[in-house]
Amino acid sequence: MKAAMTVTDFDIAVVGGGMVGASVALAAALGGLRVALLERKEPSRDWPQPGYDTRVSALTRASQVMLQNLGAWRHMQAMRVTPYERMRVWDRQGSGEIRFDAADIGEPDLGHIVENRVIVAALWRELDAQPGVEYLGGKTVRALELDSPARLLFEDGTDLSAQLLVAADGARSRLRELAGIGQHGRDYDQQAVVATVLAEQGNAATAWQRFMPRGPLALLPLERERFSIVWSTSPDEARELLELPRSQFEARLTRASEGVCGRLQLDGERAAFPLRLQHANAYVRPGLALVGDAAHVIHPLAGQGVNLGLLDAGVLADVLTAARQSGEPLGGMGVLRRYERGRKGHNLAVQYAMDGFKHLFSNSNPGLYLLRNLGLGLANHVPAMRHGFERVALGQGIELPSLARNHPDCR
Ligand SMILES: Cc1cc2nc3c(=O)[nH]c(=O)nc-3n(C[C@H](O)[C@H](O)[C@H](O)COP(=O)(O)OP(=O)(O)OC[C@H]3O[C@@H](n4cnc5c(N)ncnc54)[C@H](O)[C@@H]3O)c2cc1C
Repeated sequence: MKAAMTVTDFDIAVVGGGMVGASVALAAALGGLRVALLERKEPSRDWPQPGYDTRVSALTRASQVMLQNLGAWRHMQAMRVTPYERMRVWDRQGSGEIRFDAADIGEPDLGHIVENRVIVAALWRELDAQPGVEYLGGKTVRALELDSPARLLFEDGTDLSAQLLVAADGARSRLRELAGIGQHGRDYDQQAVVATVLAEQGNAATAWQRFMPRGPLALLPLERERFSIVWSTSPDEARELLELPRSQFEARLTRASEGVCGRLQLDGERAAFPLRLQHANAYVRPGLALVGDAAHVIHPLAGQGVNLGLLDAGVLADVLTAARQSGEPLGGMGVLRRYERGRKGHNLAVQYAMDGFKHLFSNSNPGLYLLRNLGLGLANHVPAMRHGFERVALGQGIELPSLARNHPDCR
């Protein structure tokens, strides 16, 4: 990848170089397209200081295969990825519990927990090696024109044209706003408190999730007895959790986890993120496609957000490759509708399922309490149901884009 000196015509221009945008740019470059990548904050490719990123993602097998096919996985492995073999989900005070085990379905693990900065750095290392990608830093998008070709106009008076603009600029997408694409959704009135913690009894290569009235607490295993926690709760409790002295926070967290891994101790800073449900009313306009959080934001309780975004990237790559082969314009609505049809239904289904879980499990209604305990108990004791969930955790059971299939190093 080189820094762009001149601003010229591109096949596609990707705005946002996070996990999803960097994947789109890399997939397009590997497919032979000329790509411009705009990112407001160029990410570090490595970092000298010890410590862990408080933001992590639970990656499915489908995402792993995609990252392998993109060449990023080997860099991630060299930095840090943590496989998890088991998952235990349980309800506060209730008897309801479900346990998943990779061995049940003959898999080595149920997925990997990876720090977001590791995923981004790995993708950018691969982008660095791509001559077909030009990086444009320090540009602020002022306006867009969705003609053919599409144009991005910048605050500094320069502009850029491409057959297709890809909005990968996150939940508060400026491109989505400039294109006048509305969205529906709501605040969950919850915040996710995140931190890295050390567990007295280790993490047993297990992801733990306990549902509580104000929201779930997830303990996601990292290397050497650590967890990354995602504690979803009311904004008031989140504020309190951030302000509590360390020892009190640790005592409260250990209690909330019911001590399943012994005493939990902070290993770094705490941070909190507001949680929203959000879906764009359309994913495409002539010359524009939305991907990742720019198109959909879901509750993190099953760790699916970036996995869905990577599938967007994979399907868009398939659609663009086919369009290139058949000589169709990359920004044409015929082409882009294929992308939208390929992703919107699945994203909506996962979003509604997570929304349903969130309501079912954060509710003190005695009927729902009974229902969820019965449901967890049933799912735990009926192997076919349990295995179905295990396959969902692996990102299987749907039609996958080419990039998420068939990597020789990955079963
Ligand atoms: C607490 C929490 C836990 C989560 N856990 C998981 C999990 O376990 N598994 C999972 O799959 N998902 C998880 N998610 C969701 C996941 O983090 C998001 O889905 C993912 O970050 C979306 O990636 P993205 O690349 O679409 O957007 P982002 O990560 O938001 O990246 C957008 C990029 O665009 C850049 N940008 C923005 N605007 C501009 C602009 N105007 N010009 C140039 N660049 C711009 C930004 O700098 C950024 O680099 C979690 C989310 C939260 C809040």
